[in-house]
Amino acid sequence: MKKNDIYEIEITGMTHDGMGVGRVDGMAVFVQRAIEGEKVVAKIIKVTKNYAVARIEEWITTSPERTEPFCPVYKRCGGCSLQHMSYNMQLKFKHRVVTDNLERIGGFWGIQVSPVIGMDNPMNYRNKAQYPVGMGDNGPVAGFYARRSHIIIDSERCGIQHPASEKVKNTVLEAVKELKIPVYNEITGEGILRHIVTRVSYSTGDVMVILVVTDEKVPGLKKIIQKITREIPEVISIVLNINKRRDNVILGDKVRTVYGSDTLVDRLGHLKFHISPLSFYQVNPVQTVKLYNKAVEFAGLTGNETVFDLYCGIGTISLFLAEKAKEVIGVEVVPEAVEAATKNAVLNNISNARFYCGEAEKVVPELYNEGIRADVVVVDPPRKGCDEALLQTVVKMQPERIVYVSCNPSTLARDLKYLAANGYNLDKVHPVDLFPWTEHVETVVLMSKVKNQV
Ligand code: SAH
Repeated sequence: MKKNDIYEIEITGMTHDGMGVGRVDGMAVFVQRAIEGEKVVAKIIKVTKNYAVARIEEWITTSPERTEPFCPVYKRCGGCSLQHMSYNMQLKFKHRVVTDNLERIGGFWGIQVSPVIGMDNPMNYRNKAQYPVGMGDNGPVAGFYARRSHIIIDSERCGIQHPASEKVKNTVLEAVKELKIPVYNEITGEGILRHIVTRVSYSTGDVMVILVVTDEKVPGLKKIIQKITREIPEVISIVLNINKRRDNVILGDKVRTVYGSDTLVDRLGHLKFHISPLSFYQVNPVQTVKLYNKAVEFAGLTGNETVFDLYCGIGTISLFLAEKAKEVIGVEVVPEAVEAATKNAVLNNISNARFYCGEAEKVVPELYNEGIRADVVVVDPPRKGCDEALLQTVVKMQPERIVYVSCNPSTLARDLKYLAANGYNLDKVHPVDLFPWTEHVETVVLMSKVKNQV
């Protein structure tokens, strides 16, 4: 097999990032945007020793689940990967991704995974946008990176972002052109404006704008602020984030508020949260409430429990739990987030939650050595999952229940396998769709201590 060869391929499976899988002479071929059950004519675009990648030339049969992508730049943009599938099929696909990981990596063969909780209206759901800024062929551009590249595509109108984010991006880009503000060049490291980041409060409509710059001295800053606030009155906060790094990390450590408030306030369910520029906050507020309610349900609280909320961010899950627990102890590594968490407890008149700053794998063993024990442990780690040192201490602590909230089914499966080997039973698995049209899936899991252990 070689590049540019053309084959008829039957799609018999799907990869976890949404490509169709077929076989040619026993070799696995990953076909871009093909759906299981389809028969296609495809052109090979890459061959390796073990697999090949192909692009559809034409369809012999199409799947009834195939839909027309709503986004004009779908094929080029690296944001969404499942827009060619019906929403219903996306949910089924994610269900299978979670099940596959739990079976193959976790060894939980035959595990019952609940149906994925979907969105009623899966459009314009994102409360956070990060637009890279750079020089295009016809002047400055801002938008999204193309798949597997750093070419910036002007997104025009993105169907998953809040419209206010798009408005901010377009307005800042206009200001950049009018005021000739130098845009960042990744190759030389020259220029000032790197990213336009927005955060929108869905409950109030307020918007925070974060301008990621290489230098605090931004020429024409006053005029940019005037233009943004005049044209978009919803903007209540403008923050400069200084990032001189030469890598791909979007935000630097230093922030300076140049207009309005230091934080944005959003409501989730009946609780309110201050969101600070450097803190993590779930991007899909509608689904986040469903996710947190599931986590609280799985925690099974009666009011007598000490609960740990590890990787707690700005204390969102902590405060959902606090109302039903004796006390909640949150642990989070970003100082600004811990500050916000403490402020959020006060904002909601919650006095039985306290927060520690540090790595969970360091702080939890310290708490353990001080004699503190949790009845229920909730973890919500980043994509790389939990450090084994943390899981070890959690097991030593012997909580009745462990609730695991995960954005990555493969590290989830790995960590659950460890817990299962150390006295915990996998009771419930409930995926939630926080990221419609993309391959990402969030999962909440309940594990409980196996009774009658010697
Ligand atoms: N539970 C929160 C945040 C989840 S995101 C929410 O639902 O909003 C994961 C969080 O873990 C981030 O806030 C990140 O800053 C934090 N984090 C990453 N590594 C950590 C570690 N080793 N110890 C503690 N927190 C960590």
